[in-house]
Amino acid sequence: MTKRKDIIETGWNLDNSYARLPKALFTSHSPTPVRSPKLIILNDPLATSLGLNAEALQSEDGVAVFAGNRIPEGALPLAQAYAGHQFGNFTRLGDGRALLLSEQITPLGERFDIQLKGSGRTPYSRGGDGRAALGPMLREYIISEAMHALGIPTTRSLAVVTTGESIIRETDLPGAILTRVAASHLRVGTFQYVAKWGTAQELRVLADYTLKRHFPGVGADENRYLSLLQEVIKRQALLIAKWQLVGFIHGVMNTDNMTISGETIDYGPCAFMDEYDPATVFSSIDIHGRYAYGNQPYIGGWNLARFAETLLPLLHADQEQAVKLAQDAISEFMELYHHNWLAGMRAKLGIFNEEMQDKSLIEDLLSMMQKYRADYTNTFRALTFDTTEDTVLFGTPEFAQWHELWQARLGRQEESKASSHQLMRNSNPALIPRNHRVEAALEAAVKQGDYSVMERLLGVLSSPYAHSHEQVDYCTLPAPSTRPYRTFCGT
Ligand code: AMP
Ligand code: MG
Repeated sequence: MTKRKDIIETGWNLDNSYARLPKALFTSHSPTPVRSPKLIILNDPLATSLGLNAEALQSEDGVAVFAGNRIPEGALPLAQAYAGHQFGNFTRLGDGRALLLSEQITPLGERFDIQLKGSGRTPYSRGGDGRAALGPMLREYIISEAMHALGIPTTRSLAVVTTGESIIRETDLPGAILTRVAASHLRVGTFQYVAKWGTAQELRVLADYTLKRHFPGVGADENRYLSLLQEVIKRQALLIAKWQLVGFIHGVMNTDNMTISGETIDYGPCAFMDEYDPATVFSSIDIHGRYAYGNQPYIGGWNLARFAETLLPLLHADQEQAVKLAQDAISEFMELYHHNWLAGMRAKLGIFNEEMQDKSLIEDLLSMMQKYRADYTNTFRALTFDTTEDTVLFGTPEFAQWHELWQARLGRQEESKASSHQLMRNSNPALIPRNHRVEAALEAAVKQGDYSVMERLLGVLSSPYAHSHEQVDYCTLPAPSTRPYRTFCGT
């Protein structure tokens, strides 16, 4: 009966490839049931694209799956083992409050991890309670879905349920579970774990699994493990460039929070930058600014070097040659990143072709933005719509001079003004999940049980390049505050 319901009615079409990997990589483990699950939000379009029936997911049995109270037919839940450099220090970690429920095979034959986050203690929990609070889970839902709409590779959010139980933090908070969907949860830290505590054979199995799952185009005739490294470098060079282009600050780029698939993962202390400043940090624990906006590309390179180290035994039988191959691959990261960033910045300024001086044109704009504390998103929006009158920056002679150079630059390409404008519209979001808007949505949801603020926010964030009337209100900046915005980890 249950089988019919899960498979035929709900559409769960599950497989468990990770569970077939060497035992050292995970521990089979079930979620801890919760008192009284209640569905807070369900991502209908995502459910449909996964081949799931949104209506069936909302039934009591459907919600019980999101709560960890019922294991759907065919799932073999497990906690993944991983390690990670946290703020530079190597530590043994693992899913301490999450479980890989199973893998959903979509109608198109794609495979996605279905993970429950906040589903109770696991053998990797250390001192933690294995639980998550409603506010941070809704925050991950809002920001990850906004990132997806912005065109940035990311894990997705399928549902949030409350558990009917309180969790103890500084105060008692409503407990919640997020169902996270990812191309996979393989991280740099997964490889670090196996390289440190596993066998050579386990490392090879993990690398082969990763190649098959994420890079099926890599042929048998090449150095497959070097290709793996190069492909991950390419994906991260693209991902981090995309972050920089929208002003996204991840906040905790530890190696356990860097995926192999190239998706953004772990929306703990992340936030979007308002005023342009490369030193921007929001995370309360990032006191030295290791993960500041301007540092993200360098940290990306550092993390990838840690990934490369794990692959050394597979790259070449001769250690010296292996190191040389790894170093050559890593040295390409910055160039690839810069290429992507420059291409994205050109598009943000409506530029189609390439000129040597483009980089300095862009850098001049950015340094003026920093000097006059201009809002990053709104500056590019104003340039797109030529509404450059109402900020300090736009009133300066420096800007007027820059504007003239920019206009002359646009004149030196074949494309029309109209095509330039269209390119800018498609490259400069009307809005981002502004910190004050996200906070207001969470406050209404968590304190008043009013989800309408969040639903409206999710609505406008779902088409960030629409530049529609409904979005105008959401472009406004927060009232000036004496206290800087702060975000928190692992909450
Ligand atoms: P994060 O900061 O979310 O990347 O988590 C770092 C590590 O801490 C991971 O191994 C998590 O599973 C673990 N962790 C975070 N919060 C909890 C919690 N409440 N209970 C148990 N483990 C946790
Ligand atoms: Mg993490």
